[in-house]
Amino acid sequence: MAELGVDALLLSVGPDLPWLTGYEAMPLERLTMLVVPADAEATLVVPRLEAPRVVDRPDVFTLQTWEETDDPIALVAALVDGGGSLAIGDRTWARFLVELQGALPSASWRRASEVTGPLRAVKDAAEVDALRRAAAAADRVAAQLQGDEIPLVGRTEADVSADIARRLVDEGHHRVNFAIVAAGENAASPHHEAGPRVIRSGDVVLCDFGGTLIGPDGAGYCSDITRCVSIGQPEPEVARAYAVLHEAQAAAVRSAVVGTPCEEVDATARSIIAAGGYGDRFVHRTGHGIGVEEHEDPYVVAGNTTLLEAGHAFSVEPGIYTPGRWGMRLEDIVVATDDGPDSLNRIDHDLVVVDG
Ligand code: ZN
Ligand code: ZN
Ligand code: ZN
Repeated sequence: MAELGVDALLLSVGPDLPWLTGYEAMPLERLTMLVVPADAEATLVVPRLEAPRVVDRPDVFTLQTWEETDDPIALVAALVDGGGSLAIGDRTWARFLVELQGALPSASWRRASEVTGPLRAVKDAAEVDALRRAAAAADRVAAQLQGDEIPLVGRTEADVSADIARRLVDEGHHRVNFAIVAAGENAASPHHEAGPRVIRSGDVVLCDFGGTLIGPDGAGYCSDITRCVSIGQPEPEVARAYAVLHEAQAAAVRSAVVGTPCEEVDATARSIIAAGGYGDRFVHRTGHGIGVEEHEDPYVVAGNTTLLEAGHAFSVEPGIYTPGRWGMRLEDIVVATDDGPDSLNRIDHDLVVVDG
């Protein structure tokens, strides 16, 4: 904050607050806001009825509750001493920002992610452990998928998606964030929403799923994995494309050494896919950072010259998509370490064939 000339950080709903304090604000019309002045102690302003949910951490913040008839905007305005350079959480509801701007006409505003983004991107050992636990739980579900324990043929994508979601919770996640199941031609849409399409022999089924596993300090860390299975032996063209994808993903993971620009990891995957003849069918960036959010800094994308640091955690997930026919993606979560890239997902990377 001192480097950026920020006088106070204001955090409401969104991931910055639980990341700092372990407390997650309810998305309510009643304002919750952590006020962190650069040169004074932090105060957590919460509606009184929410206070029982707060785990007191006097070493981290003072709790200030407000009654139904109080004006929480005035409380926050007083805590920031009437203005200055304020960094407000990116996910804060616009209504609260508008009201704060009215109450603090001389303040200047910027996004809190300018302060928290680079800090959150570099994980400490406990955070890497939390990501590793989440990845291991996702791996166990992927193993069930590859081991033919999750029935596919004759079921709808939506049914399989619900099954995967239940298994994510069974394996220790507290929350399911998404469970994409895309069969055959539907997999050509990278973020396809699982629907009524019935899975049948000959399909390649793309499954991309993840959830949040909450640690002892209250902050949750995310998993995110993609594996594809083939119902019966894949057509030669599909097998060939998958081999290219597999090689591209593995090479991109290997390239993710400390000091490498993020965009170079993307270029590594992209050049192999292009050399395989599928360059125009890899339609998205190679990956995204992951932590308390599924998608956060650093993004593995052309143009991002950020150098990988030990503790950066991100996905490596190239894909190849052929509209109207099939799609495939292969995704692991990787942590950059001084000993090289550490892939948290260890489950089989092949296009596993299950019975049709
Ligand atoms: Zn995605
Ligand atoms: Zn994913
Ligand atoms: Zn992802």
